[in-house]
Amino acid sequence: MTGTVVKILSFEYYVKDDITGEAVLCRGRGRLKRDGDILVGDKVEYATGSKSASIEKVLPRRNALVRPYVANIDSAIIVIAPVPKPDYYLVDKIIVNCYKDKIEPIICVNKTDLLSEKEAEKLTNGYEDIKRLYVSAEKGIGLTELLAEMRGRLTCLAGQSAVGKTSLLNALTGSDKAIGELSQRIERGKNTTRHTEIYALDNTTMLIDTCGFSLLELDIEPQELKLYYDEFVSQNENCRYTSCVHVTEPECAVKLAVERGEIDKARYDRYVELYNELKQKRSKRYE
Ligand code: ZN
Repeated sequence: MTGTVVKILSFEYYVKDDITGEAVLCRGRGRLKRDGDILVGDKVEYATGSKSASIEKVLPRRNALVRPYVANIDSAIIVIAPVPKPDYYLVDKIIVNCYKDKIEPIICVNKTDLLSEKEAEKLTNGYEDIKRLYVSAEKGIGLTELLAEMRGRLTCLAGQSAVGKTSLLNALTGSDKAIGELSQRIERGKNTTRHTEIYALDNTTMLIDTCGFSLLELDIEPQELKLYYDEFVSQNENCRYTSCVHVTEPECAVKLAVERGEIDKARYDRYVELYNELKQKRSKRYE
């Protein structure tokens, strides 16, 4: 039998069966017991025994994030709002990490009831290559479209605080129960470990309230950064140098496209800053 690990408490694993959709309490078998061997989000083979069910095998992962540990995320909903002011550096970093980890980024503007349609669209300027959705968790606007994007996938919520991720989670799961679950903490000796759980919206549609630390911090080589900007990749062959990173090189097609207004200037400027940040980090590491 196969299923998805939706919750882990110490060494008890809750596996949602692929066919029945029911959560089965399993134990990890023998060597599948060390921390990190089985993650929330893992697709597993399990067997039921006379005493208890047990996980027999963890199937290959699409990706694995840390803090919290979670595997096999298909898409990330990056939530922004008119208030607090969007942190586009964070948005850009999450997008880069998504592409790196084979996760589809989706930008979701929340609190659109505070904005005109034009103002809401303006908040996603420069992200024309990425799927964008406009919702209001409070007023229930755009949730059907958002749910349609999540159908059949494991999606995580990402973004800065106070943009309404919790109300979005509640609106999508259709209960206030989520708040209680989120604040639930497990005491493990002196360490308080965050309780990670997947919310199943139906048999195949699953949601996790956090994207984990992995998507928030950039840890790549500076010259690799340009590969995660779709709008740059299409221009790269026209740069004078194939190794062009589009910062100080002459005859750079990306910079020309920025000048012509074909690439969003603000997003390009943030790219240059992120590039320099990565370069600085790297030179510190090798000092
Ligand atoms: Zn270039």
